[in-house]
Amino acid sequence: MRSMRRSAPRSRRQSKAPALPVATKPRMRAKTPGELDAIAASGAVLRECLDLLASEARVGVTTAELDGLAEEFIRSHGGTGAFKGYHGYPATITTSINEQVVHGIPGDYVLREGDVASIDCGVVLDGWVSDSARTVSIGEIDDEAGRLLEITRQSLDAGIAACVAGNTVGDVGHAVESVVAGAGYAVVRALVGHGVGRAMHEEPQVPNYGVPGSGPTLIDGLVIAIEPMVTVGSHEVVTASDGWTVSTQDGSLSAHFEHTVAATTAGPRILTA
Ligand code: MG
Ligand code: MG
Repeated sequence: MRSMRRSAPRSRRQSKAPALPVATKPRMRAKTPGELDAIAASGAVLRECLDLLASEARVGVTTAELDGLAEEFIRSHGGTGAFKGYHGYPATITTSINEQVVHGIPGDYVLREGDVASIDCGVVLDGWVSDSARTVSIGEIDDEAGRLLEITRQSLDAGIAACVAGNTVGDVGHAVESVVAGAGYAVVRALVGHGVGRAMHEEPQVPNYGVPGSGPTLIDGLVIAIEPMVTVGSHEVVTASDGWTVSTQDGSLSAHFEHTVAATTAGPRILTA
């Protein structure tokens, strides 16, 4: 699951009143090596859950069935789903089909030959949150869909490679966007990746675009969810009347891959792989 990009701060009004204490933003906090191991344990359950869902997602299966499998799997491994109840979200996974980008609610939709299904899931284990997504093909998909999945996966790999302590959030976004733009596709800009660990959404926000060297510096032990959302057409998205499902405005195909990754001085450590 991603976080909504906040609107730009308004410029401060001039005031003669004495300065009041300003509410502090949550600071980015590095995780200790032991905490990274704890998130990796959560991430291992999540990876196995997504492996299961990927193998079970086929023609004739409903998205609600996948959701039930996920909930049962996570519970049987001592965890809980991070999404259910989050701002009232009703399910354990999100299933976003074809032009749907993210946050599709599982239900009676029956997967069809040629669909691409983006499955996003979060796990809480011993109080530590992991977040990961992948887009799977249902039966035979056409060449454009296959290329979209490949490029989106490659853009995630590029973002992960830039997730090194000392680099910046802008370096990660630039790496993602370069792969996507180079392929002639677009990254969704209204939705972003995020810090993760104790909570599902922590600082910083991690856009899938950026200027190298810009934005917050990735400190050693910072954990972020990198999650390119890529479309064949325009980057513009719309939210459905259910309040959740985000789709491309132009109806073009979309894909979503995500890993929870720690930035360390030794390089990126993927905690959901
Ligand atoms: Mg997610
Ligand atoms: Mg996320």
